[in-house]
Amino acid sequence: MILFHKQTDISQFIAQKKQSGAVIGFVPTMGALHPGHISLINNSKKDCSITVSSIFVNPTQFNDPKDFEKYPVTIDSDIDGLEKAGCDVLFLPSAAEVYPGGMQHLPQYDLGYLETILEGKYRPGHFQGVCQVVHRLLDIVKPDHLYLGQKDFQQCMVIKRLIALTGLHTLVTICPTLRETDGLAMSSRNMRLTAAEREKAVLISQVLGFIKQELKPGYLEDLKERAVQYLTAEGFKVDYIEIASADNLELQQFWNGQLPLVAIAAAYLNEVRLIDNMLLH
Ligand code: AMP
Repeated sequence: MILFHKQTDISQFIAQKKQSGAVIGFVPTMGALHPGHISLINNSKKDCSITVSSIFVNPTQFNDPKDFEKYPVTIDSDIDGLEKAGCDVLFLPSAAEVYPGGMQHLPQYDLGYLETILEGKYRPGHFQGVCQVVHRLLDIVKPDHLYLGQKDFQQCMVIKRLIALTGLHTLVTICPTLRETDGLAMSSRNMRLTAAEREKAVLISQVLGFIKQELKPGYLEDLKERAVQYLTAEGFKVDYIEIASADNLELQQFWNGQLPLVAIAAAYLNEVRLIDNMLLH
């Protein structure tokens, strides 16, 4: 695996490879890698001749400075894991390399409704930060394919919108959420859970499974309310549990029995905020 720190170096390398016909797959990450990240690398390797990953903990997407400070960093084992997975290139930039003009006057993106709900509502500015970093990384790497995890369902929609807004030529592939054996969605933030919290954390995926099982055509409020009450009684601080259109994330109060739906949740266990989602069809 070739490691680049400088934007000019990786851009030059990729331009050369593209000239000789290489198909570039890209997996952007914030590090603290787990098998979920590696599954994206594996998907890229299936479709592309060169797989590029990046590790950059992007300050502009953290609305909570404490969350940024405590974000886990495991760079040596990340490099090891990427190498074992057969990743070809790792981009490991500094903030100055990603944002050479500083972080004060970065572009803003018209994300419309998507930015007003769920993560957009509870993490103000978060998706602007995601777009700022992903736009910059896509400009640097110029991938043919971009691999994202369904775990961050709303983020996938935001990035698709970013690509449409900017006219970039990158195909997005959304890969399924990898889970621990008990059902907990793998996440870098899981490393911050105590043993007792880790045991409880599985209840988020269980409550989404409960919604899937109980879903019937008609009003959805009672089902969502029962799910919130269940997690709250177990000691979670719930930001939201919602049922939304799986196509555009419009929140649904009523189900006609036809529309493809996703159940989507965010909740704190003490300091650690966990998110998960489940398709309901
Ligand atoms: P992150 O490092 O959290 O920014 O995630 C980098 C990429 O990995 C994003 O596209 C995530 O959606 C994806 N990802 C994170 N967790 C999982 C998981 N459990 N399964 C599949 N993909 C994941």
